[in-house]
Amino acid sequence: MDSKSIIDKKIKNKVLTYNEIKYIVESFICGKVSERNMTLFIKAIYNNGLSFNETLCLTDVMIRSGVIVDLSFINGVTVDKHSTGGVGDKTSIIVLPICASLGLYVPKMSGRSLGITGGTVDKLESIPGFKSELSDNEFKSIINEVGCIDICQTKDIAIADKKIYSLRDKTGYVDSIPLIASSIMSKKIACSSDNIVIDLKVGKGAFMKNIKDASKLARLMIKIGKYYNKKVVCVLTDMNNPLGLNIGNKLEIKEVIKFFNGIYDKRLYDLVVSLSSYMVSISKNISFNYSRVLVLKSLKDGSAKNKFYEWIKAQGGDLSSLYIDAKRIDVRSEKEGYIKLIDASLIGNVSSRLIGKKKDFNTGIVLRKVIGDYVKKNDVIASIYYNKEVENMISNVKDSFKYSDNKIKEKNIILKVIK
Ligand code: URA
Repeated sequence: MDSKSIIDKKIKNKVLTYNEIKYIVESFICGKVSERNMTLFIKAIYNNGLSFNETLCLTDVMIRSGVIVDLSFINGVTVDKHSTGGVGDKTSIIVLPICASLGLYVPKMSGRSLGITGGTVDKLESIPGFKSELSDNEFKSIINEVGCIDICQTKDIAIADKKIYSLRDKTGYVDSIPLIASSIMSKKIACSSDNIVIDLKVGKGAFMKNIKDASKLARLMIKIGKYYNKKVVCVLTDMNNPLGLNIGNKLEIKEVIKFFNGIYDKRLYDLVVSLSSYMVSISKNISFNYSRVLVLKSLKDGSAKNKFYEWIKAQGGDLSSLYIDAKRIDVRSEKEGYIKLIDASLIGNVSSRLIGKKKDFNTGIVLRKVIGDYVKKNDVIASIYYNKEVENMISNVKDSFKYSDNKIKEKNIILKVIK
């Protein structure tokens, strides 16, 4: 077997065997295939796609390229949650303790920020003392005692995906449905939970720009999951607008605390309740409606909130010393009207520049007005928390608000659910 003929075969849109896919991926990992040649291979997949069987082979090779987490020490049902990444997305930090308070085990691994989307690990690490890298024993004891944990994805999970993803990111070949499906599912399957709920973002601030492509990706991931005996639900959700009011690491943790104290943005609340209910429903084999009742009860009676504090403390975090060390400037509207859109892509770009390469966790943006609000000229629409001004920060935040003369009909954040 040689890599050149495998690449040529894919360029000619011929179907590859398991061994051919294994050969080229393994050769790339050990440096026998150059980045240039691997890019030709990825480009061929990007242009010609993969059959279901080829996608499954690629997923399997990527799973086996690293460690498969052993969760056999957990004496209960495990469930994982994945988000394809959004601006202001702090749902995992709320959903995990809700599910753990209802008796499920959620051993989650998360990533750091990627492009304009923040990573859950960065958000958690903005809490003073929070440790996202733990020893095996710490991992086991926290998950067994608390029921949920969120650690930085270890370097040895799906090693091939890490290398291929970084090449895709560098060369602009990210948004290919079979490549995204195999990338996400290889990591989720290697993490070994029995049940998986995927929050698949759709819109301006997401990889998937429309419901049609997102549905295709969802069906493919569910089919891959079935092959590995995993129950998978994909919830397609709106990512034209940021999620919640706060964007930026510490600011988002502050929003999570408010959430557990009953003060929340409605879209964030709807998403949290829906994702948690699907996680409970597939894990306990009970109806969605009954799961929703349990989730609402856990939020109302404080058990989710108590679990949140217990979990953060178990990973070393000290929520009592969460303090935003940044200057604040308010952004005022120059227009009048009903807000119809807050461009997630534009505002996410400002936020990621404020955070910067040095990762200033104190910075970010707080929205003071949301979709549907009526705004008069000179009203404060957002606040920017910064330590170093970034180019066009005020005008970019202003421009991300789009107005309409007419009242805006409320749209559900959940666009579609695929099981
Ligand atoms: N998230 C992933 O983990 N992989 C992709 O390819 C895209 C989003």
